[in-house]
Amino acid sequence: MKQIISIVLFILIEAASSANNQVKSQDDALTFFNKYGYNPCFNSTVQCSISFSSMIKEYQTKFRLKQTGSLDEATKKQMSRSRCGNHDKGKSELRIMAQLSTKWSRSSLTYSIRSYPTQISESSTDDIIRDAFKAWTDHIPLKIEPACSNCKANFVLEFAEGDHRDNYTFDGFGGTLAHAFFPENGGVHFDTAEPWTERSV
Ligand SMILES: [Zn+2]
Repeated sequence: MKQIISIVLFILIEAASSANNQVKSQDDALTFFNKYGYNPCFNSTVQCSISFSSMIKEYQTKFRLKQTGSLDEATKKQMSRSRCGNHDKGKSELRIMAQLSTKWSRSSLTYSIRSYPTQISESSTDDIIRDAFKAWTDHIPLKIEPACSNCKANFVLEFAEGDHRDNYTFDGFGGTLAHAFFPENGGVHFDTAEPWTERSV
């Protein structure tokens, strides 16, 4: 399960859109829907049926596209953009999160950066991540500060590639940019295969 904090981090560290992970066919779109939570029948253990067009319509509604129910050019273009690795079913995930009471048990938290991107200096990355957390803490009743060296942090940020031992293998250049986990896991992972920059592109 993942957390939304990565969205803020994306605002401050962004990657260019890519030529990979393009959605060109119905098979590509179905893979996308399975991956991002639009197909309730994917991995279902009970008999299940859903039409492709209804998944397309749900996606088009979410991204305010014209609801054609078909894989038109505007829909393919939107689906081909680089994005967060979390499911789009935010409300249902939040409901699950509430049911599990997955929240931090304390209001003073720390973070550490275990590994860095190759395109941005460590000091710049430190500044960007600090600003990203500040963007949250300016509006929520949490204090989030860098952990002291050799201290165990609540949030552990990593830039990793491919299989990084959490069952959420990164997909290389394009597609998924990053993912994060609910409290009190605190893992925040970024795909090093992305062209990270210090500014929006
Ligand atoms: Zn990961």
